[in-house]
Amino acid sequence: MKKILIFIGPPGSGKGTQAKLLAKKYGYKHISTGDLFRALSEDETATEKEKQALEEMKSGKLVSDWLVYNLAFKEIKKNLESNVGVVLDGAIRSLEQAKEFQKFFEENNWGEEIQAIEVSLSDDESFNRLAKRRICSKCGEIIPYLSTTKDLSDCPKCDGELIYRQDDSEEIIKKRIEEQGNISLYPIVNYYKNLGSLKSVDGNQAIEIVEKQIENIVKL
Ligand code: AMP
Repeated sequence: MKKILIFIGPPGSGKGTQAKLLAKKYGYKHISTGDLFRALSEDETATEKEKQALEEMKSGKLVSDWLVYNLAFKEIKKNLESNVGVVLDGAIRSLEQAKEFQKFFEENNWGEEIQAIEVSLSDDESFNRLAKRRICSKCGEIIPYLSTTKDLSDCPKCDGELIYRQDDSEEIIKKRIEEQGNISLYPIVNYYKNLGSLKSVDGNQAIEIVEKQIENIVKL
């Protein structure tokens, strides 16, 4: 199994859920740049420059590349050097980032360790899912809108309060899909296809089915 698993997909595609399931199953480290940014925005030791860069996140825009690289590369290096594989969740959102990550992997001799997994979903379905999902205010668990979860008020894992995410308001969702939806993903997907490192799964299917298909991919 490859040591670097890269999840790509539009917001709401379920890539976060799948990345976490996979990491847990194989003892890999789940690295979500969104989570790293949310943690930094709560961190009192964050610098002014970092705080300013994080402002972009509140309006649904992409955070500056330098902050992505600063946080993500450190976390990836720490784990791979301890021989713990990594599952990257939303860490690569532009062609420039894909190239910079690739450079970083190759410089560290991890060029052969990459498997990119695309979880595909239409922009319309992406919008529907984001508008309805909630997140646990305590442990960060994402609660999709399903018949089994729609009436929950507390997190099934830790009892924390379920809330809507700050960047899940209708206007911001539209902006996020414009900036981070399929049009922006196309060049990234193509990049990994050309490298011969891409596999795709249909994110419209039930969580368990997508999970099974991803497992088959990573075990190849
Ligand atoms: P997520 O939790 O993955 O949906 O990410 C939340 C927000 O963090 C995104 O809407 C972006 O503003 C920011 N973000 C996360 N990852 C990246 C990245 N690789 N590049 C730029 N911005 C990012």
